[in-house]
Amino acid sequence: MISYKTLGLVNTREMFKKAVKGGYAIPAFNFNNMEQLQAIIMAAVETKSPVILQVSRGARDYANQTLLRYMAEGAVEYAKELGCAKPEIVLHLDHGDSFETCKSCIDMGFSSVMIDGSHLPYDENVALTKKVVEYAHQFDVTVEGELGVLAGVEDEVSAEESHYTKPEEVVDFVTKTGCDSLAISIGTSHGAYKFTPEQCTVDPETGRLLPPPLAFDVLEAIEKELPGFPIVLHGSSSVPQDDVDTINKYGGKMVAAVGIPEEQLRKAAKSAVCKINIDSDSRLAMTAAVRKALAEKPAEFDPRKYLGPARASMKELYMHKIVNVLGSNDKI
Ligand SMILES: [Zn+2]
Repeated sequence: MISYKTLGLVNTREMFKKAVKGGYAIPAFNFNNMEQLQAIIMAAVETKSPVILQVSRGARDYANQTLLRYMAEGAVEYAKELGCAKPEIVLHLDHGDSFETCKSCIDMGFSSVMIDGSHLPYDENVALTKKVVEYAHQFDVTVEGELGVLAGVEDEVSAEESHYTKPEEVVDFVTKTGCDSLAISIGTSHGAYKFTPEQCTVDPETGRLLPPPLAFDVLEAIEKELPGFPIVLHGSSSVPQDDVDTINKYGGKMVAAVGIPEEQLRKAAKSAVCKINIDSDSRLAMTAAVRKALAEKPAEFDPRKYLGPARASMKELYMHKIVNVLGSNDKI
């Protein structure tokens, strides 16, 4: 058993309290490789932002859970080296699928876990989440639960259609489980293809697809039920069209990729939403930069020559999200 506290990590409790009060949201960026992690830490330190490093099942399969944990420990030291005396970094399990997975992450130094029982019948979701909370809280590890189902695909998570969170269930769920934050479904969706063209309207000025708006009425109803309780949004990439264009310009084939407009995320960040998950946007920034670098210098074979620009591009994206969308800058 390794406590995250000895690794210099923090849980989400204080961070979320401040974020809800201050009307901003903490970025939760997924990582599965070194360049991504470097970019996240550089951006967080430069903007003086707390940050949540998220590890999904796909990332654990790809990069190894143990290695990722040591990378997060290294990230704390790296942040200090970059000039942040007291970094606020959370290592979070994204979409934990079982008690065993959550326990294994808690035991090896994660400071926060999500248990995703949203696909289960309500009572089973309550029972599973409660079991994880009871274990996690012994070690002061915070737990995110989920109610409602998101559409779209993110690693192993998939759902045919979205079912909004039912506001009348949230108090019961939070009271019975004791979870520290709640992921809800209000129309965000995993992946880079969040909506079909039929669900969108076309912007007459740009010709781009405009997605249906988020269900802010559902969010408001949830906030009314649970005043001040930390709410989480998954599937909140904006799918920057510049990156999609760059990918397509240099040989890619991404058709009708649509995300959540940043104005809507800005609005959400000012509410009780205090954690916003962003994964696809970083994948897009990386892929666009790699494709461009390889296309422009076809003789290049040193991975640092294309992963370097990819890292710079991801850092720029993370800084943009922190400063212009989430508002978590200058909080440490
Ligand atoms: Zn998710």
